Amino acid sequence: ARLKKSLAKTRQNITEKVERLIKTSRRIDDEFFEELEEILIQADVGVSTAMELIDNLRRAVKQKKITEVDEVRGLIKQEVVSIMEGSDAPLNKAPEGPTVIMVVGVNGVGKTTTIGKLAYRFKREGKKVIIAAADTFRAAAIDQLQIWAERVGADLIKHQEGADPGAVVFDAVNAAQARRADVLIVDTAGRLHTKTNLMEEIAKVKRVIQRTYADAPHEVLLVLDATTGQNAISQANLFKQVTGVTGIVLTKLDGTAKGGIVIAIAKELDIPVKLVGIGEGLEDLRDFSAEEFAEALFS
Ligand code: GDP
Repeated sequence: ARLKKSLAKTRQNITEKVERLIKTSRRIDDEFFEELEEILIQADVGVSTAMELIDNLRRAVKQKKITEVDEVRGLIKQEVVSIMEGSDAPLNKAPEGPTVIMVVGVNGVGKTTTIGKLAYRFKREGKKVIIAAADTFRAAAIDQLQIWAERVGADLIKHQEGADPGAVVFDAVNAAQARRADVLIVDTAGRLHTKTNLMEEIAKVKRVIQRTYADAPHEVLLVLDATTGQNAISQANLFKQVTGVTGIVLTKLDGTAKGGIVIAIAKELDIPVKLVGIGEGLEDLRDFSAEEFAEALFS
């Protein structure tokens, strides 16, 4: 119910339009499918994904010999679930020792907030959490992380603004060992100065982690802002080139009418969506479930 509520704007943009189309269409014909495709594309489902969805839907309608427009509703939901199949997965865990999670993404997408929420989730599970403030370029990011860390009861390892991110991570890894941490969350720079810079910085952070924990990081979470729609896809493609991304966190689903982007991301990126942000509060981070998402959208 909470997810459905946070998808209110997207529901206005997709669900209500689909409902209107269903109510005003007399039969399931080309025009119906074309209008449906248009609705999906406008809600940021993406052209290729929308086309594929419609093709699958056409096939399903034919196969099931559906003639009543009303019956299409359930089929749409099924096709949305099936096109997103395999796109959700739980967070990876270290078999032993601390689970190391690197968090990457462009500034402003909600990286800091997501780290705070994640730390909170682990603290609630009774885990010892250390956060490394390795985005040393922004003093504000370090301060923000400090506030989150204090709020949730996690330790923060930080240096001065402008310090070497590698040095911060080195200290954080040592602290994780000394304090027997269960989880180490590493913030990284989100300044898209040049791709090479970003790549080098992220690679360096990774190397420092791997000097101590060879199988780490266990997750490289890419944070994407749902309100940026199709832009999120290009950011994801960039970060895929920069570093190995193991999971996506899609933030601000609550604030956007472009929630269709979830379907595009699930279908086009070949990286599981692990978490979604549905608000600014500590508890507003959810495991992503494709089924739950489709259910919240089309019921
Ligand atoms: P960063 O620059 O990537 O570290 O971004 P921040 O974590 O500072 O977040 C930028 C803004 O987005 C802040 O005002 C956050 O409160 C807000 N924000 C982050 N995640 C969410 C979310 O899931 N929903 C909403 N509504 N706001 C969010």
